[in-house]
Amino acid sequence: MTIASQIDSIRQKLPDSVRLIAVSKQVPVEAVREAYKAGIRDFGESRIQEAADKQSQLQDLPDINWHLIGHLQANKAAKALELFQWIHSIDSLKLAQRLDRIAGEMSRSPQVCLQVKILPDPNKFGWSVPELLTDLGELNECQHLKIQGLMTIPPLGLDEEQILEFYNSTRELADKIEEQNFSQIQMRELSMGMSGDYHLAIQAGATMVRLGQTLFGSRKG
Ligand SMILES: *Cc1c(COP(=O)(O)O)cnc(C)c1O
Repeated sequence: MTIASQIDSIRQKLPDSVRLIAVSKQVPVEAVREAYKAGIRDFGESRIQEAADKQSQLQDLPDINWHLIGHLQANKAAKALELFQWIHSIDSLKLAQRLDRIAGEMSRSPQVCLQVKILPDPNKFGWSVPELLTDLGELNECQHLKIQGLMTIPPLGLDEEQILEFYNSTRELADKIEEQNFSQIQMRELSMGMSGDYHLAIQAGATMVRLGQTLFGSRKG
């Protein structure tokens, strides 16, 4: 299977309304070029340094949207704003406020998602549902961030039915937030679904799926 044929076969399974984000972490730039040639314009990276290295080798491809999908350390906020149009992994009020301040200083307005943990998961970053609901008022004051929706990753070990329920709960949470009509908080995007479970995420209403291994082959380590 080539990357191009894999992309084609995945595309046929995705509704037109779902944006395919090709997760290129640990993938060489040649493979990114192949995906680009096959029409991909959205790429996801987890680490700032790796993204910077890759982007410097891909400067001839100017119309890529880069998506940060991994945890962002506070001291790398400015660098993240230089490198990424989208940040899916805003995972605390403190990070949101810091990013907002720096975005203002840099005259940027990044599109962001709020990373939420629908189920408790000590191995992941993100808001618990009650914490997120508490912080919405202050998030709404982040004038420079374009808050577009929620991002989530299910904990390991769930069966298909539980994963579907998990993703459905995420959509229901987004609906509940939307009903509060915050001026600065949109809930039009649901960033959910990876190689193993994107069919379930789409069933639950995902608008962006983040696919790595099913496009590029398995990562080591
Ligand atoms: C690595 C990663 C993905 C892609 O996972 P695959 O199993 O390779 O599809 C998606 N989302 C996040 C947050 C990731 O870190």
